[in-house]
Amino acid sequence: MEILDKLAVLADAAKYDASCASSGAPKRKAAADGLGSTTGAGICHAYTPDGRCVSLLKILLTNYCLFDCAYCINRRSSNVPRARFTVDEVVALTLGFYKRNMIEGLFLSSGIVRSADHTMEQLMRVAKTLRREHGFAGYIHLKTIPEASPWLIEQAGLWADRLSINLELPTAAGLSRLAPEKSDTTIREAMGHMHARITEARAERRRFSPAGQSTQVIVGADAATDTDILTASDGLYRRFKLNRVYYSAFSPIDHASGLLPPKPPPLAREHRLYQADWLLRHYAFSVDEIASTSADNMLDLDIDPKLAWALKNRGAFPIDVNTAPKEMLLRVPGLGARAVDKIVAARRHTTLRAADVARLTVSFRRAAPFLITLDHRPGALTDRADLRARVAPPKQLSLL
Ligand code: SF4
Repeated sequence: MEILDKLAVLADAAKYDASCASSGAPKRKAAADGLGSTTGAGICHAYTPDGRCVSLLKILLTNYCLFDCAYCINRRSSNVPRARFTVDEVVALTLGFYKRNMIEGLFLSSGIVRSADHTMEQLMRVAKTLRREHGFAGYIHLKTIPEASPWLIEQAGLWADRLSINLELPTAAGLSRLAPEKSDTTIREAMGHMHARITEARAERRRFSPAGQSTQVIVGADAATDTDILTASDGLYRRFKLNRVYYSAFSPIDHASGLLPPKPPPLAREHRLYQADWLLRHYAFSVDEIASTSADNMLDLDIDPKLAWALKNRGAFPIDVNTAPKEMLLRVPGLGARAVDKIVAARRHTTLRAADVARLTVSFRRAAPFLITLDHRPGALTDRADLRARVAPPKQLSLL
């Protein structure tokens, strides 16, 4: 098979992996005889055979796989065209695209061929060859195989900017039902090893996966609720200090297993999970607080989780922007972390009025029922029965 035909197969096969953002990579330029750079800005695009603009060459080394995970298009029982790159082919493609200014780095994943160790070694060799033989200083993200030997994963961390291990399903029960050859324990152990290596390397100022580790969770392939998913993510952030958990809405595949739902979840579910994840990481919300806004452990699809929490906890509002602690300002719908920082800085010098807050956030209309300023008191508005209808975003009309 020609290399471009392989590329068509293996770039398409990689599109289901959401965990390819490159934010967090340190700034770097190649040496005089090297090639490439990283900007530190978020790059999360992929090469597609139809010529769409790309920043990251996102491919699989191969879509042959020994495993038979029900949710995966590349599982061994799937009837899809197969292809396999050699290490040298991936290296040549990466350099070729880089020199033509089409990409800023490589996201490389793989099905499991021959053995976990064999596959991991190939992935590692791609990164090592790019760095050592070609002085490639661009971004490299390797998807690691949890069943591979820790030594190989450690080697990969020497050359990659970021390593990731996909959790895939948030509960051990879901994983054993849909991916019986995978083990939740093995995946979490591999994440634990990786976390230990990253922590050690940072303490010793050595290079090892400097942009940390991330994972992907598939949403809607099993019966896990949003609370189950957020509980799993929260545990990963706390135990292994993951940089990101990516949420990928399950998309039905051809010849799918009967274990899978026939329909994808609403895309809004993925969006609400990202918003809730943001609240966990940057706004000091707990999973219990987010879960308390729903009766069935599923996030409200019509309003964002912060607004849902504020509407349910109206007794905590309104708060005075001029005196409230920062932690409470962060809980006001419509006030983002940056707006809160500006408010805290501004109120050191002045007493804020409604127009001042409106200048610092684009969402003052949403925040107003929950805030007091020098010249604004929402009064009974905070407790009105129709408050949700007043502050909820208008429903998007169907295009059809
Ligand atoms: S191991 Fe990975 S590539 Fe193989 S079937 Fe499972 S999810 Fe797909």
